[in-house]
Amino acid sequence: MQKVVIVGGGHAAAQLCASLTEGGYTGKVTLVSDEPHLPYHRPPLSKTFIKDPAAEPQLLRAEAAYRDAGIELVLGDAVRSIDRAGRCVVLASGRTLDYDVLVLATGTRARRLPGLPESLENLVYLRNTDDALRLRSALGTASTVTVLGGGFIGLEIAATAGHLGKPVTVFEAAPRLMARSVSPEASEHVAATLSEAGVQVRLGAKVEHVEHDERRVAALMVDGERYPVDLLVAGIGAVPETSLAEAAGLACDNGVVVDAHMRTADQAIYAIGDCTSFPYARSGKSLRLESVQNANDQARTLAGVLLGKPAPYGALPWFWSDQGALRLQIAGLAPPDAERALRPGAKPGSFSVLHFVGGQLVCVESINAPIDHIAARKLLEQGVQVPREQLVDPAIPLKSHL
Ligand SMILES: Cc1cc2nc3c(=O)[nH]c(=O)nc-3n(C[C@H](O)[C@H](O)[C@H](O)COP(=O)(O)OP(=O)(O)OC[C@H]3O[C@@H](n4cnc5c(N)ncnc54)[C@H](O)[C@@H]3O)c2cc1C
Repeated sequence: MQKVVIVGGGHAAAQLCASLTEGGYTGKVTLVSDEPHLPYHRPPLSKTFIKDPAAEPQLLRAEAAYRDAGIELVLGDAVRSIDRAGRCVVLASGRTLDYDVLVLATGTRARRLPGLPESLENLVYLRNTDDALRLRSALGTASTVTVLGGGFIGLEIAATAGHLGKPVTVFEAAPRLMARSVSPEASEHVAATLSEAGVQVRLGAKVEHVEHDERRVAALMVDGERYPVDLLVAGIGAVPETSLAEAAGLACDNGVVVDAHMRTADQAIYAIGDCTSFPYARSGKSLRLESVQNANDQARTLAGVLLGKPAPYGALPWFWSDQGALRLQIAGLAPPDAERALRPGAKPGSFSVLHFVGGQLVCVESINAPIDHIAARKLLEQGVQVPREQLVDPAIPLKSHL
């Protein structure tokens, strides 16, 4: 019987288990996660989970689903090394697992502020449930919240902390929020919404120094000014967890390098999810994405390969971010030099930004416009081309073009 070992217990790993089960896979599947929990939904950690003291992690699948499918779960134990010649992995516990197929679904880890001890009690990074429990408890007593980083996760935490009535300040080094991911129009709208909710946003803010003793962060020096800190949340990005792959001599370049079938250069080793650098079918260039959609769809692609029905990965990327009452949804990817046009939404504070390359629609960002987002995904997936003046006309529903 073929033995599949999956390293990681996040969205990609759980979806691979689900898709293999649905496809009637007959091999022996073992999932190894260094987290002590069953795979759970990660997005709520920066949203609902940290504002409700009673919230529990939302499981992606019940334990019975793995058990009934004969999938072995090894939780709270990390894979420490891969022996490619011997086709086995060694766990922190000392246990060894043989494999015919090894799947790296190791995700990312939160980028750390350089030069600071890990033990600072009022500094929080957010990646997993244990981090979220720490953040939730710290938010309960914090007099002020300082967020470093104006990306999706930092802003979701800022919006949630603001909702909890905390005075919040966000420091972002770039001249606008989420500059690498969204258009200037979306950045501006998000900044205005946060300010209306009482969140202070400092753009172009260069943190020169983090003042701390061995226990706590005391203050930030930003552009020559000292800002006292009570709770500091660092949302300064994530780095792909490639250490196992690198140590095993697999090619890594901002992620474990895979082909369109999720295979590394070693025919027995695959990688899926946030940890991969993969060929993006729509541009032909290498890409790494951090999104639930990408993790799930890459897992489905790999399941197809293992079930003997291979099809190259070509899914349309899509994302979402909930920042308090504001819902941002993105379908497709836009290069920075894409042309943009606004499509007003049905209600005040709702609109979409359409991105075009060579006159063709490539990406739609929707703010509080979920119906337009769903239609845009379908238009982009199906490659339907519609004249721009019709796309921006709010009187013509996007779905009418399908
Ligand atoms: C707070 C937060 C909010 C988010 N919000 C959104 C959102 O709103 N929308 C969206 O699309 N995406 C969101 N994301 C991103 C999304 O969660 C990720 O894209 C998704 O989790 C990727 O799935 P994955 O399986 O590739 O990696 P992960 O879910 O990160 O899972 C990787 C797993 O591997 C484990 N692991 C790593 N190394 C080892 C090892 N050596 N041995 C054993 N186990 C190991 C890790 O502990 C982890 O459990 C959010 C992420 C975070 C942290």
